[in-house]
Amino acid sequence: MSAPNIETIVSLSKRRGFVFPASEIYGGLGSSWDYGPLGVELANNIKNSFWRTVVYERDDIEGLDSAIIQNRLTWKYSGHEDTFSDPMVDCRSCKSRFREDKLIEEFGSPDSNGSKGIKCPNCGESNWTEPRPFNLMFRTTVGAVSADDDPAALAYLRPETAQGIFTNFANVLNTSRRKLPFGIAQIGKAFRNEVTPGNFIFRTREFEQMEIEYFVKPGDAARAHQEWIDSFHSWMTSIGISRSNLKDYEQKKEELAHYSERTVDILYRFFPEREDESKQWDELMGIANRTDYDLRVHSKKPEDAVGKRLNADSTEDLSYLDTATNERFYPYIIEPSVGVNRTFLAVMMDAYSEKTNDKGETRVILKLTPEMAPIKVAVLPLAKNKPEIVEMARKIKKDLQPSIRAVYDDTGGIGKLYARQDEIGTPFCVTVDHESLEDGAVTVRDRDTWEQRRVAAASLKEVLLNRLG
Ligand code: ATP
Repeated sequence: MSAPNIETIVSLSKRRGFVFPASEIYGGLGSSWDYGPLGVELANNIKNSFWRTVVYERDDIEGLDSAIIQNRLTWKYSGHEDTFSDPMVDCRSCKSRFREDKLIEEFGSPDSNGSKGIKCPNCGESNWTEPRPFNLMFRTTVGAVSADDDPAALAYLRPETAQGIFTNFANVLNTSRRKLPFGIAQIGKAFRNEVTPGNFIFRTREFEQMEIEYFVKPGDAARAHQEWIDSFHSWMTSIGISRSNLKDYEQKKEELAHYSERTVDILYRFFPEREDESKQWDELMGIANRTDYDLRVHSKKPEDAVGKRLNADSTEDLSYLDTATNERFYPYIIEPSVGVNRTFLAVMMDAYSEKTNDKGETRVILKLTPEMAPIKVAVLPLAKNKPEIVEMARKIKKDLQPSIRAVYDDTGGIGKLYARQDEIGTPFCVTVDHESLEDGAVTVRDRDTWEQRRVAAASLKEVLLNRLG
């Protein structure tokens, strides 16, 4: 099973310390969330898995960490200043504001005419303004002396990590002595002043992206695109997301961004409670064939029909010389782009399950893969008032920690401690009891089967490493 709805994960997250509302003591801030002690571990596990899979296990990807605040010209020439907007409509009756395409997606029907035929989800009226574009970039000013409206000081918080990769294309190419095909990966924060954020961490104004820009010869782009789509399906399942909760969506011609030749979104079943199956899905990640658009627009050389430079400010030409053919061209780019936060939510939803114990009580079990689990092993003393047991348990935790993320916990009875670890996805509990003092063995309890096995403390690390894979 997986979670019946996002609300179940919201409450588990709050109860157990995965995610808290940001600035909660001041009433919170719409759609801002803080990642607690377990949340930061899960998010790090997702990022580490991504990085290991694409940067370390392949031989054709380099890493990068570019700045959040870039020269404003980056966003002028990328097209974001002019076109990075969503269509916004207002309900004239109750003044609520919505993103029109999402309104249609969620509440529209084949015969609703754009947003016109849709009833406002807030007041039930159907009295909409005409849609108008709303630019999603957060503005800021740079420098201590700048006035708030000084255009020379205007800067943006990046709305995607990708542009920092394009502007560093020549730097990475030259310093790493790469040849096509190769890619650059980056993980980092992005900011979008979303019209209607919501659904917990699904859509927020501050979020984190994991992106790859993969540079290829134009003729290789279609094949590379499909390979990346397939490889991300494998990665998603490797981190515990079931295949049956994933599906591809081929963007229609009219939905494609101006730079894209083909974009496939991988959707996750974020809304299983919706009756209409087609509305249960939303975007987990996008994989675009961006053509040669990006390197071309950031280059100083391309000219229009009358010989005028298309980019009057760039100091670099980002074309590529194929030394085998002596041909110079702008590489095509395949871009897999995935949100850390949406992946976090999908991993939590998919891992969620319930099990009833002998007493008829229902327990939550978070069946995270060992790689995703924030804590791999919890070491629990059966009697916390017995110093020898406590000492042995603490020593076991200390010995495990260098190779396995382990915690010691004595804050409740053993039943309660097991239940807590099940709920946060800890694959194994190790219990130290009176007998352990005699025979040097401990009980290893499996989260998913609740099966218990005696293991010699001396071979515990090896047994656990084996079972954790
Ligand atoms: P949507 O259509 O849902 O607004 P998008 O197509 O604009 O998303 P992209 O620009 O393709 O999103 O960004 C790549 C990925 O970054 C998305 O697939 C998603 O995982 C993540 N992402 C984008 N916007 C947000 C957001 N506001 N909050 C959380 N994650 C986001």
